Amino acid sequence: MPYDESVPPTPRRRPLLAAAVLAAVSLTAAGCGAGDDSGGAQARPLPGGGGTTAAPSSAPPSKSAPAPAKTSASPAPSTKPSKSTGGRATGPLSGKTVVIDPGHNPGNHLHTREINRQVDIGTTHKECDTTGTSTDSGYAEARFTLDVSHRLRTLLRAQGANVVLTYDNDRPYGPCVDERARIGNEAGADAVVSVHADGSAVGNRGFHVILPGLVRGGAADTSKIVEPSRDLGTRIAGLFVRDTGSAPSNYVGGNSGLDIRKDLGGLNLSTVPKVFIECGNMRDPKDAALLTSAGWRQKAAQGIAEGISSYLKG
Ligand code: ZN
Repeated sequence: MPYDESVPPTPRRRPLLAAAVLAAVSLTAAGCGAGDDSGGAQARPLPGGGGTTAAPSSAPPSKSAPAPAKTSASPAPSTKPSKSTGGRATGPLSGKTVVIDPGHNPGNHLHTREINRQVDIGTTHKECDTTGTSTDSGYAEARFTLDVSHRLRTLLRAQGANVVLTYDNDRPYGPCVDERARIGNEAGADAVVSVHADGSAVGNRGFHVILPGLVRGGAADTSKIVEPSRDLGTRIAGLFVRDTGSAPSNYVGGNSGLDIRKDLGGLNLSTVPKVFIECGNMRDPKDAALLTSAGWRQKAAQGIAEGISSYLKG
């Protein structure tokens, strides 16, 4: 269903990080070797070097508030997002819709022409999608993102949420970044998380959550989602630290674990609260050892799920 633009954003939520920490959030244009929804597999520059890590604060215990039920999605043909209610009649997230966007697609590299097609992201045009990165041993980012997304879906459904994946190994390539955003919008999602892993230089380690910057242009207008997305991302960052033990990125975001981007179509075109998470750097051997571990991926999914849950409960 169309997203109701008259629904106000969520001013009740307060950011969890101190203003000083948030002020450290950097504005970088570099993409994840693959997490950039328009970039290639190039390595990131090193904007500020390393330094001591400062973990974002964890979310406080939260109160559950019932929310109006949402319309169930229809069955999904192969070209449609993987939609399923999957939620229990009861549960702390009953009535909430979460859209999970597994970054890239394992088949993208076989469809270069299709994924290089330019799409309108409001402020500019960019590639439909990218191939994503991989570890040196060949574990593809697109396989990682789908695995974590499946684990995340299971965890959120167990709390009663209605969970929609933007795709679920049910199409040869894509979706394009504009369609990924549209799926979240049309689902009327209460929260959207795009799952990625980065492709940066050896020695660059840790995770970061990408928040939408304020953009207006064409179909892009993030003015209503900047603040709730910041709250969502801050909670995810704090609980990702707690559950995985990973430190915030030592190469993006000034050790805050948060980054703001204005160049990602998946964020610019979203009308519902949305963040990306770069779970680690696939090109760093130490991070790669984590990303290729099923046990670690479960912890990663747990941290993301708890961040989403904390946000949705307010
Ligand atoms: Zn990616």
